[in-house]
Amino acid sequence: MDTAIADNINVIQNRIHAACLKAGRNPEAVKLLLATKTVEAERIKLALQQGYTLIAENKIQEVKEKYDALQEVPHESHFIGHLQTNKIKELLRYNITCIQSLDRWELAEKLHQRLFFEHKTIDAFIQVNTSQEDSKFGIAPEQAIELVKRVAALDTIRIKGLMTIGLFSAEAEKVRACFRILKQLQQQIAALHIPGVQMNELSMGMSGDLEVAIEEGATIVRVGTAVFGKRPYPDSYYWNEKQH
Ligand SMILES: *Cc1c(COP(=O)(O)O)cnc(C)c1O
Repeated sequence: MDTAIADNINVIQNRIHAACLKAGRNPEAVKLLLATKTVEAERIKLALQQGYTLIAENKIQEVKEKYDALQEVPHESHFIGHLQTNKIKELLRYNITCIQSLDRWELAEKLHQRLFFEHKTIDAFIQVNTSQEDSKFGIAPEQAIELVKRVAALDTIRIKGLMTIGLFSAEAEKVRACFRILKQLQQQIAALHIPGVQMNELSMGMSGDLEVAIEEGATIVRVGTAVFGKRPYPDSYYWNEKQH
């Protein structure tokens, strides 16, 4: 048995709690999402059994491989990876409730067409490239509002918030600047009161920077390594498929 997962989740819960107290926020206002890329279904189930039932994958292939095994334990699945338009149809087979990585009009348009055809709706976060690095997906901050307005007109896609990866840096202040960009965008968009658009969720912060993200207003932190251990592939494999 892998008791490390339960222990790791406790450590993360304590970190979330401490960060909320420090920031004067209610710990209940921050959800832990488990980023499960490369993790086997059996190990994911151990985490689900601890009561942490919000999980997300980056690749459809992994969603598909683990889908049947995970049905035994109730949970909710989001998608946080780069989504190619030719994979939309497949993704919609697996009961994903939210696409956190909606980052371009072409994707929204194709997603809408397919959802409309299937008489379905889906939640989405707009992914913003707050670190402005070419290696990260996401729409540029200055184009995000325009994208939100256009997607808002598609009645199959319900925008619930924003997501970012941010900069990987040991310098907390540089990381913080990325999260602030996302928070500011959230406030600007909320102030526009665009019909059909909700801006309650801010998905930011990972294993290494969740405290900073919580201080800057994260409502969902996405944690992989700190719960499941190091992954066999570098993250570039997931974040920029163009390199492969
Ligand atoms: C892998 C991943 C995470 C989790 O990163 P860790 O550093 O392992 O906690 C969060 N968000 C996205 C989009 C990811 O791909």
